[in-house]
Amino acid sequence: PRSVSVLGVRIDRVTQEEALTFIEEQIRRRRASGNRLPCSQVVTVNPEFVMEARRNPAFRQAINEAALNVPDGIGVVWATRYLGQPAPERITGTDLIPALAERCAAHGYRLYLLGAAPGVAEATAARLCARFPGLQIAGTYAGSPDPADEEAILQRLVAAQADLLCVAYGAPAQELWIWRNLSRLPVAVAMGVGGAFDFLSG
Ligand code: UDP
Repeated sequence: PRSVSVLGVRIDRVTQEEALTFIEEQIRRRRASGNRLPCSQVVTVNPEFVMEARRNPAFRQAINEAALNVPDGIGVVWATRYLGQPAPERITGTDLIPALAERCAAHGYRLYLLGAAPGVAEATAARLCARFPGLQIAGTYAGSPDPADEEAILQRLVAAQADLLCVAYGAPAQELWIWRNLSRLPVAVAMGVGGAFDFLSG
């Protein structure tokens, strides 16, 4: 999509609706391919991400290689306006999750919630299922971003047959976790969502 560089971080100038359509398209295309297409990473870039990316080259690379970077935070939207290539609106993970859950429920796409403290992903799933009847939760697991836990988490994901993965380990851990596992993640789209489960479960 159309993009602009904010202090070396690529921001894609999409509306929330376009971001949702992009994510749904990845899910449909991967299903149509017999689950052969690789995972696409989606990043919600807030001002702290931009600052961290300046001193953390791996984080910067992970973001700039992502399939879609949306501006999460009015400061990032302002920066794109200042640069004369405005992003249309702020897009947060907390807004994207229910909007995606609604589409998942409508089309039978399976959602996996990874991260946050034990029980929080489960509570988030229960809330989403109550709000969007028919939503298929492929799985929930706290786990941890510790590389020692990676194999066990990937095994769970393979068994869960999810389409969409939300990872709540906070930035930059969640983006780096998704990035280094991208080639083996058995989902169409993986997105870091920070503290969104804490908010959505409460
Ligand atoms: N978290 C986790 N494991 C960790 C570190 C953090 O599950 O090792 C979770 C934490 O419970 C919280 C989220 O990651 O739900 C981080 O939220 P925070 O608001 O700090 O992240 P941000 O939105 O600032 O990226």
